[in-house]
Amino acid sequence: MTGKPAVLGGTPLLSTPLPMTRPTLVDQPGTMERIRAILASGMLTDGPTVAEFEHQAARYLGVEDVVAVNSCTSGLMLVLRCLGRTGDVLLPSFTFMASGHAVMWNGLRPRFADVAPDTFTLDPRAARAGDPVAILGVHTFGMPADADELAKVAAARGAELILDAAHGFGGRYPDGTRVGSKGLAEVFSLSPTKPLTTAEGGLVATDDRSLAAELRHARNYGNPGDYDSRLVGLNARMTEISAAMGLCALPALDATLDRRRALAGRYVDGLAGLPLGVQRVPDGCTPVYKDFTILVDPRRFGIDRDRLAQTLAAEGISTRSYFDPPLHRQTAYASCEPVDLPVTDAIAGQCLTLPLYSHMPESAVDMVIEAIIRAYDHREELA
Ligand SMILES: *Cc1c(COP(=O)(O)O)cnc(C)c1O
Repeated sequence: MTGKPAVLGGTPLLSTPLPMTRPTLVDQPGTMERIRAILASGMLTDGPTVAEFEHQAARYLGVEDVVAVNSCTSGLMLVLRCLGRTGDVLLPSFTFMASGHAVMWNGLRPRFADVAPDTFTLDPRAARAGDPVAILGVHTFGMPADADELAKVAAARGAELILDAAHGFGGRYPDGTRVGSKGLAEVFSLSPTKPLTTAEGGLVATDDRSLAAELRHARNYGNPGDYDSRLVGLNARMTEISAAMGLCALPALDATLDRRRALAGRYVDGLAGLPLGVQRVPDGCTPVYKDFTILVDPRRFGIDRDRLAQTLAAEGISTRSYFDPPLHRQTAYASCEPVDLPVTDAIAGQCLTLPLYSHMPESAVDMVIEAIIRAYDHREELA
């Protein structure tokens, strides 16, 4: 029997609290030099550093073009705006709110569909519903969505496939291509909780050169330079300083992600003896593990997700219930047509995201595993 959980009066496993996530910032001397040069140049936004970052990101991803923006949310908003269509956009409800917000801001109607119970990504069979103008897939927690199947479903309806790749930078599809290379466009987030960060920022990857050209105007109020705006755009420009951070982080990214995957593997091995669910990696995919999320089914584990979260918090371990509530149950979406999403509701009720960041010590992963084993051993007292 393991030691008594802190929530029952035992000694907490950690004396300093373990955070959910921390940005992994590569300490490259080049970063500060670049930032100094940018400040000296007086050109702070949308300049040569942004162009260079776009070029390097396009090379890394293996796509025709990349348009840098100031967030994934604005990138998604602008891609949907450039579509220039009205109607429904089909997307999962089990995602971060920004996926749906981009749809709503464009006056498009979200049509929520269920996710697959094992991968937590949009189920291509569920995506066959309705008559959407676009399907918005999500690489949930960095697990590549089934983009080839979703593309077929979209094509059969005359809809465009767009991917919310906020969690996905650095992942690969089963055919070996990088996440970023499918659909009309894939939109990445570079905010601080994402594995590649520029403080705030986003990237739109596309093989459609005319879309990329339109997005470059759209991120600049829709002004192509003559002050006759062609569409109602945004100020969604990336700063030069953010681009410098991205440029300096990119060469180190693959090693960072390898470490992240190794830590996720350590969780999988360490928890293997417990009746918990983990996200399945589809055959041939390389995930990013933006998050490592388990499913806690109280009938199998003995206590429910919220009780486990409380038990871990008492040990000094922060967790999150990503994504609970799912979008179709959020207040901002109350006006949407009610939908029945049994898989989404089940996962949302059981999901618990554990601490994971690229430079997290292995010993910290082991501590979280030990705390979960402790909770399981004492499940009857905890229930
Ligand atoms: C973080 C996130 C976004 C938003 O990214 P920002 O860069 O913060 O706008 C969008 N979708 C998903 C799934 C996210 O997790």
